[in-house]
Amino acid sequence: MVTRTERTAVGLDAWLAEEYGFAGELSPIGGEGRNFVVTTSEGRRFVAKLDEDGSDWGEQDRAIDAAHSALAPLGVALPTVVRTRAGLIESMRRTADGRTMALRLLNWVPGVPWLESGPPTAARLRDLGRALATLDVALARVDLPAARRTHHWDLAQAARHRPLVKEVRNADLGTNPRYVRRELADWAFHVYTACAGPALPALPHSLIHGDANDENVLVDDGRVSGIIDFGDSLWNPTVCDLAIALAYAMLELPQPLDAGAEVVAAYHAVRPLSADELRVLFPLVLGRLAVTVVTAASRRAIDPNHPTWFITEDRAWRLLEKLAAFDPNAAATALGSGAGLDSASAHGASVPSLLEHRRAHISSALSIAYREPIKMERGSDQYLYDDRGRPYLDLVNNVCHVGHCHPRVVKAGQRQMARLNTNTRYLYDELTQYAERLAATLPAPLDTCFFVNSGTEANDLALRIARTHTARQHLLVVDGAYHGHSSALIAASPYKFMGPGGSGRAEPWVHIVPMPDGYRGKHKGHGLAAGTAYADEVGRVIAEAGAPIAAFMTESFQSCGGQIVPPEGYLATAFRHVRAAGGLCIADEVQTGFGRAGTHFWAFETQGVVPDIVVLGKPIGNGHPMGAVVTSRNIAASFANGMEFFSTFGGNPVSCAIGLAVLDVIRDEQLQSRALELGTRLRDGLRSLMDAHALIGDVRGVGLFLGVELVRDRATLEPAAAEATELVNRMAKRGILLSTDGPLHNVIKIKPPMVLTADDVDMTCRVFDDELGRLGLTH
Ligand code: PMP
Repeated sequence: MVTRTERTAVGLDAWLAEEYGFAGELSPIGGEGRNFVVTTSEGRRFVAKLDEDGSDWGEQDRAIDAAHSALAPLGVALPTVVRTRAGLIESMRRTADGRTMALRLLNWVPGVPWLESGPPTAARLRDLGRALATLDVALARVDLPAARRTHHWDLAQAARHRPLVKEVRNADLGTNPRYVRRELADWAFHVYTACAGPALPALPHSLIHGDANDENVLVDDGRVSGIIDFGDSLWNPTVCDLAIALAYAMLELPQPLDAGAEVVAAYHAVRPLSADELRVLFPLVLGRLAVTVVTAASRRAIDPNHPTWFITEDRAWRLLEKLAAFDPNAAATALGSGAGLDSASAHGASVPSLLEHRRAHISSALSIAYREPIKMERGSDQYLYDDRGRPYLDLVNNVCHVGHCHPRVVKAGQRQMARLNTNTRYLYDELTQYAERLAATLPAPLDTCFFVNSGTEANDLALRIARTHTARQHLLVVDGAYHGHSSALIAASPYKFMGPGGSGRAEPWVHIVPMPDGYRGKHKGHGLAAGTAYADEVGRVIAEAGAPIAAFMTESFQSCGGQIVPPEGYLATAFRHVRAAGGLCIADEVQTGFGRAGTHFWAFETQGVVPDIVVLGKPIGNGHPMGAVVTSRNIAASFANGMEFFSTFGGNPVSCAIGLAVLDVIRDEQLQSRALELGTRLRDGLRSLMDAHALIGDVRGVGLFLGVELVRDRATLEPAAAEATELVNRMAKRGILLSTDGPLHNVIKIKPPMVLTADDVDMTCRVFDDELGRLGLTH
């Protein structure tokens, strides 16, 4: 830091006299010893600013001059530049110690900081909005290449500081309930990232002041008299200027959004705000406050007594606490009330009404997720948004594999739907293109595709193919498995027939092998010994079946069974047993395929095997109903026995176009390696919570296929199902969607869209930590 000796170090008094032709009293302002008030003998005042480098911001000074003129009728001044005697905007000199310094002189702006001028009146709030809008309109006329930069307080990049949430320590919480401040910071960044982040690039950008805080807005005689300090100005979404001003203008006010609405309405009257700009204001305000509080928290370790670092911190926390009472839609409506924003939540039926109508027309055999049902309104990337505008990080929907409503996938479907949609008895490019592309992802000899409309249909077809090929009927399935909702597959899904409402194994052709669960099962561990032991159980069941086996149908990793990755070598040895008995091996990749495993595109590849039939579903169409069976030419040939295979919708041009787009996005956005990187980060982060939380019995999985098994006792493995349900509901309230699974309902499953970010992962771990702590079962 530069000290107050700067004045003498650079000979400021003489410099001023030589370049500007006057002598004056100098007194330092600010903490860094580089800014001085200059008072001339006639009593005129200026601000002298010293800088390490010269600026190339001459254009900015012209813009400030123009804005100053535009603001003059409002009685608002800006710090315009005083030129040197030679007519220059700054004077450059080499100092005795070899540095190049620039000196600038600015006209004095009258007034005292907003911060020191008491609670604002409505008139003053409107002054602020009007002045800022006038300034923004004037600045928008300037294209300033040097402004295309970023800095710590760049609100469009606020998410960069999200990792600092971890610096908010519980010890900082004073009398607040445990974790409340960290929760607030996480919530603020979450809403900012999910609600403002995706919208910002499309909003109007211009040169903005960038720091209209309560020290830089000056007040004289109760009215806004000036806006100073253009040091943080930059090219940004224009609305960020307003959001920053709002974040400060609302501090310490009993009804912050009402006060904010005054500023917004007055701003809107001068520079009309679009509905999209109005909707991002609240998330942007939260982003600014979040950066303020986490920056302060992170700087405390550097200098807890710094004169300026912490001046806004407590007030920003208090404002966040107040704003936390508002949903994004309600806050947008409140802030935009004077700017013509329609209530965003007015359309569609309410949650209670939907529940009532659902009871009337939808079977209660279909349950609803979460204790407090959520009405979803839209999805984007890894987020879903409810009817109150609240964003949720979706950690459980593996269908929207490349992100909710991915624009490339949507466009591919729309384009094809507008051109041609017919069935597979005609020739069209999309079917063969897609079959080729899909087959290319699979190892030889898997090259022949059948297209259907769901995972159920695909598994059902796989079973038929295996039965036809082998001329046998019996099927091996894994305990706890779910393969689909057709009659045949319910009979082949222990998850269903052994679960609630089930009446046990009904079909003699179904044979159950143990779940290869190295944590809870009979054979512990994840190595070859456990893998071989479980695989030999498959051999034993085949021997005991009393009938020849058509196939072994298994997920490559068990999903509904509790997010279980089988131990090393399991599938290789199990497949050997099945094939030795003349059966086929069917890999159900409905939950696990398309790169989710991270290291490999298909989960069976992690076990070094090649199945005879592969079944695909869920992510294949990113939400568009599709399923596929891929097998070898040879096995497919047995199935072509004269009985036709035809699915009316399966493989239609629209589905194929969508399937192709999904494959393109996985490749172009490198989602498989992302799954590996972020899945590992998430698994490690969750494992690191095991020391503090006895409830976590096991954290397992690969890539973005993870499970957290909760137990009441790590020795007895007593399942903690009620706690798992409670945790999942609490996480949903914090904006993170998860669900429970496994035969004991005590496994939290994690299988998010693969467009997750590292910040999402870190937030998930923090919120997991908070909420597990609140369950009261910490060591
Ligand atoms: N196989 C597995 C492993 C599944 O998890 C599911 C659905 N949860 C299915 C098949 C059935 O797929 P769908 O619901 O698309 O019919």
